Amino acid sequence: MNTLIGLLLAIEGLQTGTLPRQWRPSGPNCAEVPAWQVHEYNANLYIIRESGCTNYEKPFLFLFFGEKRALLQDTGAGMTDVDRLIPELLAQWAKRANRPVPPLLVVHSHSHSDHTSGDKKLAALHNTTVIPAKPEAIEAAFQMPGWPQKLGEIDLGGRILDAIPIPGHDTADLALYDRLTGLLLTGDTLYPGRLYIRDFPAYVESIDRLVKFTKSWPVAHILGTHIEQSRTPFTDYKIRTVYQPDETVLELTRGDLLELQSELAAMAGKPRRRELSRFTIFPRVSLP
Ligand SMILES: [Zn+2]
Ligand SMILES: [Zn+2]
Repeated sequence: MNTLIGLLLAIEGLQTGTLPRQWRPSGPNCAEVPAWQVHEYNANLYIIRESGCTNYEKPFLFLFFGEKRALLQDTGAGMTDVDRLIPELLAQWAKRANRPVPPLLVVHSHSHSDHTSGDKKLAALHNTTVIPAKPEAIEAAFQMPGWPQKLGEIDLGGRILDAIPIPGHDTADLALYDRLTGLLLTGDTLYPGRLYIRDFPAYVESIDRLVKFTKSWPVAHILGTHIEQSRTPFTDYKIRTVYQPDETVLELTRGDLLELQSELAAMAGKPRRRELSRFTIFPRVSLP
């Protein structure tokens, strides 16, 4: 992390962490690529990326640790051994923290199969609760009736995550904000790549909701669940690309969120494709 940003976050009272300048590319030889890359943002937050050699979507998963329980956002794409990986990480964390292995709560950025494929396997594990990626189930679990207007929160023990409904890409999109680190997780709604929009009016409202939320809370980074953009501005890797040696970083800023909001407003209710330096607004009717 750049020293100035670190200093500013320290002033805000946020726990700092690090992000890779480059995530491990999936290739060129898949035989040498591990199924998962696990990056410790800090001691109590792991960011996990599935290899493109397993599934071209290469989604990111996030594992938060509180004093009472752990929370996992998303369970990966395709056939994986996520039910081996996550218990290993829980045990490793517990050993280092000198604590019992925490119970696990699993939630989702949204319901698409590249983020939910490990659900069944994880639900079969001991001490694990998987909340289905459906608005009704999320409302009940977070005690936040009134989807998508109402926000919720969940306490992991000394660590509160805010839950912000942001439908539009899907019906069950849910942003998470971690008050300890100031990280805002935005799933497939905002990430460096193609922002596919299924329900445009809902998406516009969701982005407005996120902007409003970030007026009250400091944002260290905005982290979505894919990287499709290259380091060259306005350029992305084609869909189904496995090997992306020149891909950009995962993190976006609140400035990117504000840019997205103003570009959507400029469309005045008429969705159209718009390529920007770090992402593309990509309205479409049906999703893959
Ligand atoms: Zn999606
Ligand atoms: Zn996705």
